[in-house]
Amino acid sequence: MPDIRLYNTLSKQKEVFTPSHRGLAGILSSIGFGKKTVTMYNCGPTVYQSLHIGNYRAYIFADTLKRALEFNGYNVKQVINITDVGHLVGDGDEGEDKMQVTVQKQQRSSKEISEEYTREFFAGLKALNIETGDSRGVEVDMRNSFGPDRSPATQFPRATGYIPEQITLIEQLEKRGFTYKTSDGVYFDTSKFPQYGKLGNIHLAGLEEGHRVTANAEKRNPTDFALWKFSKETKEGAAPHRDQEWPSPWGVGFPGWHIECSAMAMKLLGPTIDIHTGGIDHIPTHHNNEIAQSEASTGKSFARFWLHGAHLLIDGQKISKSLGNTIYLKDLAAHGVTPLGLRYWFLTASYRTQMNFTWEAVKGAQTAYERLLEQVRGLSKAGGSKVSGNAAEDAAPTYGKIFTQALNDDLNTPKSLAIIWDMMKDTEMTNTEKLDSLREFDGVLGLHLFIAIGGPVPFPAEIVDLKKERDIARRQRDFRKSDELRVTLSSKGYDIVDTSTESTLIKK
Ligand code: AMP
Ligand code: ZN
Repeated sequence: MPDIRLYNTLSKQKEVFTPSHRGLAGILSSIGFGKKTVTMYNCGPTVYQSLHIGNYRAYIFADTLKRALEFNGYNVKQVINITDVGHLVGDGDEGEDKMQVTVQKQQRSSKEISEEYTREFFAGLKALNIETGDSRGVEVDMRNSFGPDRSPATQFPRATGYIPEQITLIEQLEKRGFTYKTSDGVYFDTSKFPQYGKLGNIHLAGLEEGHRVTANAEKRNPTDFALWKFSKETKEGAAPHRDQEWPSPWGVGFPGWHIECSAMAMKLLGPTIDIHTGGIDHIPTHHNNEIAQSEASTGKSFARFWLHGAHLLIDGQKISKSLGNTIYLKDLAAHGVTPLGLRYWFLTASYRTQMNFTWEAVKGAQTAYERLLEQVRGLSKAGGSKVSGNAAEDAAPTYGKIFTQALNDDLNTPKSLAIIWDMMKDTEMTNTEKLDSLREFDGVLGLHLFIAIGGPVPFPAEIVDLKKERDIARRQRDFRKSDELRVTLSSKGYDIVDTSTESTLIKK
């Protein structure tokens, strides 16, 4: 197996990746007992509105990375956080909390709002075949949502579930002299952390469109950031301003956005994690701040590899509500595009390449994906016979080798897909060899290629009825209802995989 090389934003180059050895399991694996474990933290979504397809690109990237590491023989212990408090409208520390703005607009509690969108997020992950470990999501206490997946654990901790850990972390920073108090909160003093900004792009933080950092006269340095924000004082007896606020040693308030990631990553994965990911928008502020507060509190390196996914544009423009160009997963079906067709399209570019969404491009990917499914079906129907009469002992290992080389070269998924198409055309291989290789490759690409084959499976009558009801909703283009029925089926242990012409039930 060739080494896996990943582009590390810290060093600005591709580096050979191996996990660090930690704990008893690490020591045992280093002397040949058991698999090595990789610890990975993926910055998760803010759940005050639906995720758009660009957001999901970030999680397809994280999932592909996790699958690639597993393909390389590692266990992956993964954490994806759910931001249900503290993400302010801008990256600066002024402005309102996105969740509170929605609470006021919709006159609903933050709990209700975050549960709705977390549930929807899980349904989206399922539709895109992104592995979630314990897919019950919000039904379980997410402090401990370990799941029986291929990997030992994927956890989805919510920020509001880890308030004590965030307070403890701020206390540690205070003890070490990294904090100061202003009239609106407790701040991290970046001048006390000389390595501040080692991921780079700091100077961009204040300049980029949408990232306006309003001057706060009480801040000692422009890059200082809030660790804890105070709730605005209310008159005695009046209703509180926020429905999310907690007592703390500094006053009633709520955590800043960045502190949740440091607190949950270190609590669940240890002080030094192997891989941390996010979108490129996180580099200048969020990730530099995560590094500062984590490393200042422990004195240890926080993450060894930082990987960042490039953005998705729509018709050449940034995805933004004000431009009205946002596309959601639910919009795909009306154009004959399925979530897995979208996944295929994302895989046709490197995660580090900016992509431009057009319906034409994604429909082209949908057609290619369906052609691939058709070919897999054809291979299985034809059985294990050789396509040509030639002996072909070495063909399958060759494809396995070049597929791995492409994947291990910083997840070159476009090349991996091209190799699959080359293999499909290869007349030197038997159908069985092709199917065996495809099974292995699909474990990494997550395209559910084998839904195209396999006979009818006896499902319980209730499940069949729900599926029929959903088929009708889908035919009538009632996508809201069909999404709801997908969630119901998911909660009962069944996934649905759609192509533009049919839907298939799969037992989880
Ligand atoms: P948020 O909920 O805003 O924190 O975003 C969730 C994830 O989506 C983060 O990793 C972001 O970096 C990522 N993201 C946001 N916009 C885009 C986009 N247009 N394309 C790709 N990823 C994005
Ligand atoms: Zn984060």
